[in-house]
Amino acid sequence: MHCPICFFRDKSQKEIKGSCFGLLRFEHKLEKYKEKFLIGIDEMKSLSECDCYSSYNHKELLSWTDSFLETLKENRSAAEQAFDQIISSYRDFISKSQKVALDNLWAYLEENKLIAGAVHPLQHTHLLFRGRKRGAFNEAEIKEFFHVPFTMRQKIANQRFSISGQPMLYLGSSILGVQKELGLELDDIALAGFCPKYSVYYHKKMFDLKNYVNDVLENTLPAVCEADIPISYFDKEIVPNRWSIETDLQNSILMHICTFPREYTDVFIPEYVLPQMLTTALMEKGYAGIVFPSTKDFSDLTGHHRYSSYYLNVGFFVSYDEKNNFDESLLNTFITYTLDGTESFDLTLDDLRSEMAAVDKASRSKQDHSLPVILLGPRLEDIESGVLCGINYYQTQTGKIELEFYRKMLRHLC
Ligand SMILES: [Zn+2]
Repeated sequence: MHCPICFFRDKSQKEIKGSCFGLLRFEHKLEKYKEKFLIGIDEMKSLSECDCYSSYNHKELLSWTDSFLETLKENRSAAEQAFDQIISSYRDFISKSQKVALDNLWAYLEENKLIAGAVHPLQHTHLLFRGRKRGAFNEAEIKEFFHVPFTMRQKIANQRFSISGQPMLYLGSSILGVQKELGLELDDIALAGFCPKYSVYYHKKMFDLKNYVNDVLENTLPAVCEADIPISYFDKEIVPNRWSIETDLQNSILMHICTFPREYTDVFIPEYVLPQMLTTALMEKGYAGIVFPSTKDFSDLTGHHRYSSYYLNVGFFVSYDEKNNFDESLLNTFITYTLDGTESFDLTLDDLRSEMAAVDKASRSKQDHSLPVILLGPRLEDIESGVLCGINYYQTQTGKIELEFYRKMLRHLC
């Protein structure tokens, strides 16, 4: 039994999804997941009765989550319907046709306005990372880290949000995230940094498949409560609230289904069908990309701030280019960084911070360069207390590489 905070956490949902492994058909896994999700709602208890209460001990938070819990239980059928709609689209895909499935999913997303919003561009104006298995290519050449060239289309495999043959640029919000996605030893990974230009992305739409119910419950609310700002679940100005529950459940369930971990790696990956259809809908709607949480296991990282977003991935849609081998216009939306062999990887967090302090005094004329540096401060704080396999994050090889990239970003500014 969970309280609302514990239930909506990525980790808990991942455990529930994992407990459906073993069923041979993905449609059955989804049905089982739905069943367990609904039982989770039925059996959910107040924060005051949960083991986690000691770490969230705040009256306002308790009353907010209790109201949320009551509303959630009253709207159990909305959760059931959200599951049924998405599962029916998957069933259409395997039993009818791709077109029927896509039309079905499209109609559901449209009707409920689930692909209307966009993340604020500041949220992805961060240095993002890309890794590749080391091989016979020039690691100082950024194009080697960009999408698979159009002439190599035959090499493009199925990925969660892109179909085989369709290039997409996947970036991670931390070196740790990239490492987990590739499942390789750090020494075997070549790395590069891509920083989205704020001036460009300010005009573009990015879709956020982040777990925002959890984000509000676990990050925003405790912070607001600690600051003694009065907050109520019945305040229409703040979402989620009493009246947004249906949309909150729809968004949450869409996100959890689209990040269903795959059990087998094979030619056809059923877990990718729905996310790939979502991509089609987003591209049609003019989105530039999608932000989504990694499905990998990060349990070896502990002690970091609950705000930390080291586990996010960002997928950028690639447009076809008749003349060039790459989507040059997409490449121009980033400031990029590669490693050239001169790096020492012995930087400490303090070293970086003193460089940052020096940069602060310098000119901040170019927003595209200065914003990611300004946003870097809180980002470092969020993970600095993190411990990876017993070692402080920024003292691990993973963290040190990340610091090296940040230094490149700082020096670029000077
Ligand atoms: Zn709890």
